[in-house]
Amino acid sequence: MKLTRVLDWIIVSMGLLSTILVTYYVSQKNKKEDLLRFEYETNSMVRRIQNRMDSYEGTLIQVRAFLRNASSIDRNDLHKFIQDTEIFERFPGLQGIGFSQIIDPKNLPSHIAEMRKEISGYKVFPEGKRNLYSSITLLEPEDRRNKKALGFDMYSEETRRKAMDEAVEKNTAVMTEKIILIQEDLENVKLGFNVYLPHFKKGVDLSSAEARKKGLLGFVYSPFRAEQLFKAIFSEIDMILDIEIYESEMNPEHLYFDFRESTEPSELEEIREININERTLILRATPLENFPKAASTQKTALVFFSGTFLTFLFYSIYLFTRKQMQIARTMANEKQMLLEKEKEHVAARDDFLSIASHELKTPLTSLKLQAQVMQRSINKKDPSAFSEEKVKNLVKQIDNQTTRLTRLVDDMLDISRIRTGRLKMEKSEVDLSELIRDVIERLRPQFMKAIGEIPKTEFQQGIKGHWDRFRLEQVLTNLFTNAIRYGNGKPILVRTELHGNQANICVIDKGIGIARENTEKIFERFERAGMSASEVSGLGLGLFITNQIIKAHGGHIRVESELGKGSTFIAEIPL
Ligand code: ADP
Repeated sequence: MKLTRVLDWIIVSMGLLSTILVTYYVSQKNKKEDLLRFEYETNSMVRRIQNRMDSYEGTLIQVRAFLRNASSIDRNDLHKFIQDTEIFERFPGLQGIGFSQIIDPKNLPSHIAEMRKEISGYKVFPEGKRNLYSSITLLEPEDRRNKKALGFDMYSEETRRKAMDEAVEKNTAVMTEKIILIQEDLENVKLGFNVYLPHFKKGVDLSSAEARKKGLLGFVYSPFRAEQLFKAIFSEIDMILDIEIYESEMNPEHLYFDFRESTEPSELEEIREININERTLILRATPLENFPKAASTQKTALVFFSGTFLTFLFYSIYLFTRKQMQIARTMANEKQMLLEKEKEHVAARDDFLSIASHELKTPLTSLKLQAQVMQRSINKKDPSAFSEEKVKNLVKQIDNQTTRLTRLVDDMLDISRIRTGRLKMEKSEVDLSELIRDVIERLRPQFMKAIGEIPKTEFQQGIKGHWDRFRLEQVLTNLFTNAIRYGNGKPILVRTELHGNQANICVIDKGIGIARENTEKIFERFERAGMSASEVSGLGLGLFITNQIIKAHGGHIRVESELGKGSTFIAEIPL
């Protein structure tokens, strides 16, 4: 895998990994925050219940203190005292405060008679013979429900008796287990409980349970309708928790209070035991829908998607920057290459100029020399200098030099034509073998001088094409003169082949050959395959022009060569 790929993977996976970690961390932190707040709220509920029950107990203690200091239990005085505490106004939910008097069986008739003076029809119920009686002789406020309870012997009922006995035993306020209050109507019966505080004769020994039993006068007590009590306690605040309160066990039969009957199941749940007046209440709290939660699926999703978005945003910026850097690098490279090419071009052009001046100067110098020789002969009036033979020779030399000059100038003109796109083709039917023979014939003197023979030919007969005859002559002349110049005086072979619609002309020499790295370059302008001007004359334009002419015919030229062994130039031209 490429390094950049690895880097891509690292960046994206690191981004996503940190997103997951942050999401996890945030969600855990929020959950913890929720849990702490939930615990705090539950605690405050527990405290609220405890405080309220403490206040009630406080009132019971106050009432008992009042009774202890009174010489006798006067119903009117007690009524006034309880009114003064304003307990019912301060704490709605309290069913009542009363006094349950203990009655020795032998005193029962006199008790009833005494009470009837104040309450007509008063009786102690349920009826029946018992070892000890008790009777609610007072219950504030004196409403319809509470009046129903007057005369009720709570000691006759097991659950209440148990709490009453325990209160004496422990000399403290004791709550009953769940009961149905005597005040309840027949319909809509609710669970409740009583809290008893024992009241003893003034001055009796209270150090032991036995002694306390003997000195017991009765109980200051409060009946509670559980639902009404807790409703009142919680009505004072905005509830954000659903609260269920049970008596000692968490099951529907012991349910005292349920703030909201059906609530969704929740991850957050607290169960607390609340110890009040020797009994245990169980509180179960779950959050209501208005509980201000920090953790939520939306929040977690938001964190996750923001993280993912940022990762990809960062990644895109990174990719963009990388691309820009790549582009900048490529541009710099291209610029560098162009610069180098430009340098090469300048160097090639400088070469060309020095070669061109050398090439032009050679025939001109030779012409000038001949002119000077002739001038001298004329000055000397030497007739032998103008013999037929000498003049013929001189004309031939002048012709050669001017031909050479013409060729050079023609090449340079062609280059300029190619550059300006003015290299025109005038096509006509050309017989290839005939054309090659003509060119060989024209170059015969050069061949004979350099090699001692004209090239061997292997022609496929009858190849005719639609070509510019003059330009093809130029191509062949170039290839032949090169084969002469670079052919080391070795025999040359010319072959023609027909391949479908294409004629191939191969010019094969056994000369110096061309290095592999130059086989393409030599077809470019001013390229001389590492040769200096002095070695073999030439402008490095011939093959460039040749290539352009063949291209203009829709063809292609290439060379197969090996240094020191010779070259084969193959021109492929469509017919
Ligand atoms: P010139 O011959 O005038 O330098 P050309 O364009 O005709 O220019 O040739 C370019 C270069 O290709 C020559 O300088 C020479 O190095 C090389 N070359 C051309 N023909 C041959 C050949 N037959 N054998 C070896 N080298 C050749």
